[in-house]
Amino acid sequence: MDTTNRRRFLQLGALTLAAPLAVRFAIPTAQAQALPKLPVDHPQAKALAYIEDAAKTTHPAFKPGSDCANCRLFTASNGACTLFPGYSVPAKAWCAAWVTI
Ligand code: SF4
Repeated sequence: MDTTNRRRFLQLGALTLAAPLAVRFAIPTAQAQALPKLPVDHPQAKALAYIEDAAKTTHPAFKPGSDCANCRLFTASNGACTLFPGYSVPAKAWCAAWVTI
């Protein structure tokens, strides 16, 4: 293998190794994409007395100190809630389905 062919072989090898990494970092994953905020008038949200600020709820099931941030159904990395697929909720929100961690 002469020098030109060796250089071309190494360049192609480097591109082959780098391509999957480039694709991985160039295309954001679904999880990394921002979720739209849950509308307070969403029917299920209304049924569960959802409120964007837990401190303002007067719901009888509310336990002081509980909010989405410490609910088992909350994913802190993207604000997702298992009960509301496709939406995010603020960490300080709350609803009657709150589940202790
Ligand atoms: S289920 Fe938990 S995370 Fe989802 S809105 Fe209710 S309190 Fe927040």
